[in-house]
Amino acid sequence: MSVLFRHLPSMDRLLRHLEADPELAGRPRAMLRDLADGFLGLLREEIRSGALTAEDELALERMLPRLTAFVRLKSRPHFRRVLNATGVVIHTNLGRSCLAEAATEAVIDACRNYSNLEFDLATGKRGSRYAHVEEILCRITGAEAALVVNNNASAVLITLDTLAKDREVIVSRGQLVEIGGSFRIPDVMRKSGATLVEVGATNRTHLRDYENAVTENTGMLLKVHCSNFRIIGFTKEVPLAELVTLGRSRGIPVVEDLGSGNFFDFARIPGLALSEPTVPQTVASGADVVTFSGDKVLGGPQAGIIVGRKKWIDKIKKNPLNRALRIDKMTLAALEATFRLYLDMDRAREEIPTLSMITASADELRAKARSLAARLRRELAGRASVSTRPGASRVGGGSFPEYDLPTTLVAVDPAAPVSVEALRAALLAVDPPLVGRVEEGSLLLDPRTLRRDEFPLAASALIQGLDSAGPATERH
Ligand SMILES: *Cc1c(COP(=O)(O)O)cnc(C)c1O
Repeated sequence: MSVLFRHLPSMDRLLRHLEADPELAGRPRAMLRDLADGFLGLLREEIRSGALTAEDELALERMLPRLTAFVRLKSRPHFRRVLNATGVVIHTNLGRSCLAEAATEAVIDACRNYSNLEFDLATGKRGSRYAHVEEILCRITGAEAALVVNNNASAVLITLDTLAKDREVIVSRGQLVEIGGSFRIPDVMRKSGATLVEVGATNRTHLRDYENAVTENTGMLLKVHCSNFRIIGFTKEVPLAELVTLGRSRGIPVVEDLGSGNFFDFARIPGLALSEPTVPQTVASGADVVTFSGDKVLGGPQAGIIVGRKKWIDKIKKNPLNRALRIDKMTLAALEATFRLYLDMDRAREEIPTLSMITASADELRAKARSLAARLRRELAGRASVSTRPGASRVGGGSFPEYDLPTTLVAVDPAAPVSVEALRAALLAVDPPLVGRVEEGSLLLDPRTLRRDEFPLAASALIQGLDSAGPATERH
């Protein structure tokens, strides 16, 4: 082994080689030195682990293709595009929603050029950045006023801080939700200076539980969407309308954190049993303030949207926290473009990827799966067997929890000696990475979250993955 270490290429030789590579022209010497250092580290590791055993494998000429691949890999941006074949439409780890074309164009326009971000073109004086979306938000939600902040977590925080600081907030025990990424209703409540008053039992809460908990110090009745779990069996929740009646009679604002907040009535799509009140329905039920996310089922950019009665929204706007939670111009551009699509629901369904993926029909998905499978069979040429099978996708992002959307999956089973697990791992290191799921010993690709124009990329990812997941001797 120690003999092998002595045959490693020298730093100087590696550096000379990298400096001569036209693709790396103009890169700082310190960066090239880091790359060479990283490559040597990788080789040492392979010698130690026994993956590299022969002296001649260490000859620089034989190493060059690997060095080139290593350098390409390391000089890629850290934040990159990924192919989502998981079938989870709103995949928080993969960036939640993909924007509609109109929204993408609006973002490019907003960041490439100057804009009327805070400039009133009617008066030539200073304007408000929120004016761009408030009117259209009121129009599509039916609310009196609206405000947009950085994300829904901040929407909940600023609403609690404004309406219930140093006061009591009554919440059902069944709704003390933890969303992924350390957002917990009780913790946010504490941070805002409100006192949590839990009522009811985990599975059942009655109107009288709320009534009995009201004191002269109650600042809010809060309803929280059970985003990522479902309580089934012997359960009861108090409908929003009943909370609103109670709130009105005692002069206490009623707030609903909708989480996802959909505008689209999924119940009207045949075969989709997704039914939840929409944002306009929630507003119409009389909630004083409603909050929801921009990048969940809405299908827009990351944002927290707050709509409701003008009296409360005006107070929230004046909260100094609002300045700290404000959204940037790219978000505003994407939001306005997305909201405009909702003026026509059919157009929204067609053009907002999140909606079209959720509502894709079984026939459409079967056809997509067959066409992806045919391409893979052709391009992988016997290196893996490819088949289709019925399966399920998920909406994800804390929307419609535990609800399976029927789909057709493409199963990829690599030929020996490549294992499914090795292929799954190798696919994360190719360009662009392809994320699928491994179930029952197969790599499964769900065409619901893969666009047809991404099929060639998926095929190329699989070829690269099979190349690099092969046994070590084939790699060199
Ligand atoms: C997702 C969610 C949040 C957090 O929203 P972000 O936009 O991710 O900050 C808060 N409350 C509920 C009920 C949610 O589902």
